Amino acid sequence: MAWKKRDTADGNAIQYTTIKVRLYPTQAQAELFENTFGCCRYVWNRMLADEQRFYLETDKHFIPTPAKYKKEAPFLKDVDNQALIQEHNKLAQAFRVFFKTPESFHHPRFKRKKTGRDSFTACNHVFESGPTIYTTRDGIRMTKAGVVKAQFSRRPQAWWKLRRITVEKTKTGKYFCSIVYECPVKAPEAVAPAPETTLGLKYSLAHFYVADNGEAADAPHWLKQSQEKLAALQKRLSRMQPGSKNYEEAVQTYRLLHEHIANQRRDFIHKQSSRIANSWDAVCVRADALDEMAREIKLGSVPDSGFGLFREMLRYKLARQGKQLIQVSRCRPTTRTCSACGFVRDEVSLRAKTWVCPKCGAAHNREVNAARNIKLEGLAQLCA
Ligand SMILES: [Zn+2]
Repeated sequence: MAWKKRDTADGNAIQYTTIKVRLYPTQAQAELFENTFGCCRYVWNRMLADEQRFYLETDKHFIPTPAKYKKEAPFLKDVDNQALIQEHNKLAQAFRVFFKTPESFHHPRFKRKKTGRDSFTACNHVFESGPTIYTTRDGIRMTKAGVVKAQFSRRPQAWWKLRRITVEKTKTGKYFCSIVYECPVKAPEAVAPAPETTLGLKYSLAHFYVADNGEAADAPHWLKQSQEKLAALQKRLSRMQPGSKNYEEAVQTYRLLHEHIANQRRDFIHKQSSRIANSWDAVCVRADALDEMAREIKLGSVPDSGFGLFREMLRYKLARQGKQLIQVSRCRPTTRTCSACGFVRDEVSLRAKTWVCPKCGAAHNREVNAARNIKLEGLAQLCA
């Protein structure tokens, strides 16, 4: 479940909540999905190619709408037009963030069937005759596909408004649908943090994170077990003959395990972020590269650390309680500074797990000390 907030003028706020459900399309519906994925890729690539050509010829940025291609590519008419319009919106957004912060976001790229993600997005439109997209007891009604069978793990509240859906197919051949709802809520009252109710977190390769009070979030042992299994499977795959039946089977096993680990990790990150957001009034973390974070969230799959996703979850889980995630500049020497006296030491011996401050004699665990500095820095930022 993702959450975003937009404040409205009357002191109320709009929350966006996402419910992800597994889909069980019929063969005809699955074929329609496949066509839609393909058409979305097609218009994306055509619009991107035209954008680049226009720019070369006229020095201006302009993205044509999908309607332009329907005459020469009549197959586009077979799929939900909404999905194609969304590709236009996504491409325009990709250019916007790229122009705004080219150092953090890459130039929009062409999509390839092999490496790309199979998905499409469609917005809900409410007409007098009813909405174009809605949920039924055991399905989701979509514009072209009709009612697609779905399994709900949780239900939306009656007053939530269905805004859009994203249908996606995983590499293991499963279909999922993310349903985004707009939920009006009373804006939470802002919580003013005190030093004793503020937590400093340091990203840690070994422990996922280490807190300023010495707490660490070690990934559960089953996650490690799955990862070991994955590594073994990878090794086996590298020795097999590509294309053979055994190889194909092993690849599928590998994908399933990979997916399983991603789910386990997501679950772990959800639980950790909920626990922290509920028990603390503010959390300080180091700000890290934006695009790493964006990529993690956009792809939906959790890469090795998942810390960017963790931070994003923390942000929205704190925000819905009126609390803050305070981001500390990554340029601050948080690891090299003594949290007791403020002495900054040289780069040397950074690898050591513990160190003693040459000035005040305080003994430090390297990561706990860094977490303390992140917290001090965050609190100072708050007062500034
Ligand atoms: Zn010191």
